[in-house]
Amino acid sequence: ANPDTDADADPGSLRTPIVAVLGHVDHGKTSLLDKIRGSAVSEGEAGAITQHIGATAVPLDTVSSMAGDLVMADDFDLPGLLFIDTPGHHSFSTLRARGGALADIAVLVVDVNDGFQPQTEEALDILQRTGTPFVVAANKIDTTPGWNPQPDAPVQETYDSQSDRARQMLDENLYEIIGQLSDAGFSADLYWRVQNFQGNIGVVPVSAMTGEGIPDLLAVLMGLSQRYMKTEMEIDLGGPGKGTVLEVKDEKGFGATLDVVLYDGTVTEGDRIVVGGVEGPIVTEVRALLRPRALSEIRTEAEFERLDSVQAASGVKLAAPDLDDAMAGAPVRVVRGRHLEDVIGEVEAELSEIEVDTQEQGVVVKADTLGSLEAMANALREAEIPILRAEVGDVAPRDVAVASTATEAENRVILGFNVDVLSDAERELDRQDVRLFNHDVIYQLVEDYEEFVEERQREQQETVLDKIHRPARFRILEDHTFRQNNPAVVGVEILAGTIENNRRVAKFENGDAERIGELSGMQEQGEDVDEARAGSRVSVAIDGPTVGRDIEEGDELWIHLPEKHAKILEQELKEEIPADEREALNAYLEKMRKRDPFWGK
Ligand code: GDP
Repeated sequence: ANPDTDADADPGSLRTPIVAVLGHVDHGKTSLLDKIRGSAVSEGEAGAITQHIGATAVPLDTVSSMAGDLVMADDFDLPGLLFIDTPGHHSFSTLRARGGALADIAVLVVDVNDGFQPQTEEALDILQRTGTPFVVAANKIDTTPGWNPQPDAPVQETYDSQSDRARQMLDENLYEIIGQLSDAGFSADLYWRVQNFQGNIGVVPVSAMTGEGIPDLLAVLMGLSQRYMKTEMEIDLGGPGKGTVLEVKDEKGFGATLDVVLYDGTVTEGDRIVVGGVEGPIVTEVRALLRPRALSEIRTEAEFERLDSVQAASGVKLAAPDLDDAMAGAPVRVVRGRHLEDVIGEVEAELSEIEVDTQEQGVVVKADTLGSLEAMANALREAEIPILRAEVGDVAPRDVAVASTATEAENRVILGFNVDVLSDAERELDRQDVRLFNHDVIYQLVEDYEEFVEERQREQQETVLDKIHRPARFRILEDHTFRQNNPAVVGVEILAGTIENNRRVAKFENGDAERIGELSGMQEQGEDVDEARAGSRVSVAIDGPTVGRDIEEGDELWIHLPEKHAKILEQELKEEIPADEREALNAYLEKMRKRDPFWGK
């Protein structure tokens, strides 16, 4: 390989398809990538793979020798596969391009024993939304009880050499996954039964540990790309480059650099480029194109080797002045041969696709990349969480100031996705009483926030409940008049609800509630108490009435409910109060509404 040119670029006009790996945590994404890279390296040829920035290129010849009979190099004219190194939907959604996903094709990894998990569903949503073709790698088949591993063998071969029992257990797990895909709205089957990969999802049983099924996975990826995406791979390889920023990174000796995945054209040292930045497009000039040094040369002084020029598809580090404000997930465009204004316009148009719907009231959102900002906005819209402002970048004091203007506690919140908090912002959070939620899993972030909101609402209800007069019904017991008046002291039994001291007491007469006095003391078994629950018997002192004239033994009495309180109880807190209290409330409302049907409404 010639280090000064792009070793894996085909001289023709077809570029390498970009492959992303997604799936639930621990289902084997990293292992699968390692296995593919490792097997490629152990195929032994020099240039078996090329380590790019953020991606690994596996050329067709290497794919073919790994896949054996399943991939005949002569049947393909695509140059190979470019695997994005960081698996997971974070990088997948960061790597957006042209309004969709940058990856041309995806592998959704599902643990055969574990089946669908939350991030599997989330990945499926993203794949569906971006219209990305994908295959399912049903991973860890080697963990099937009684499995007899056949390292690096194609599925059919290893399947045939298993016991009936092992085969049966694997089949059960595979059909479970196919069923789950179908529940999610995808028609799927084992890949060798799929005729039309455009309408159907192929499931490939694999083991990232033993390499079983990896030939099949590679064959399906190559076949899918060749068959359905060939036209998209036809690009002008020499044209002005187009790419997406994967990461903005400071490098010793270079300052801020961009890790870019180039999906179209060429970028050359000295090219003028336009990059999406926090404050809008940045125009600058490429000073250096860098790539990790090959393993064999790693002992040389520099970590990177310099390239004169790079062709799509490719991962490359780009050094240029003025990149501090560049955003991960933003577009990069080479200007070459075009009007600068037009290129700036293109970049602006792509940036504006990600503008988030904001409201007058809502939370502040910060995300590490444009793609994750978009994914956050989608997730929050689905969860009906309003957004006041959404931006790419770390949490700064300014964000805290914006969040602190909210009147509702549930909006005095910053939702951070995979961001850092600047130290002066940390202080402000405390001072301004703004809550920060920061996570690198979106559904977790949404869940944490929803829990917080519920908690706040519960607290609020509790304070309201504290202030509100609560309904209760009680009866004066026979032969329990201890004092006739000033105050009247009688024994009562509480029938429903809780009576509290200092509350007004009412009695229904002629269908109307009449206030007859106020509770001014309570004793339960000789002890002073402030309240008494349904079922208990207590003696109460009532200021106002006289026993024998205003009230009688056997009378049913009520805690008087102000209309406003009754309304709040019925409309907002009905589910929060105990059943017996609810019964007292309903009975009270019914009595009041006989007179006035709109009472408390
Ligand atoms: P990720 O979180 O999806 O990237 O998952 P990893 O690749 O880190 O794998 C999680 C765990 O599963 C690790 O302990 C792996 O060694 C193990 N693992 C992954 N693939 C396989 C497999 O095919 N067979 C077995 N037995 N273990 C696997």
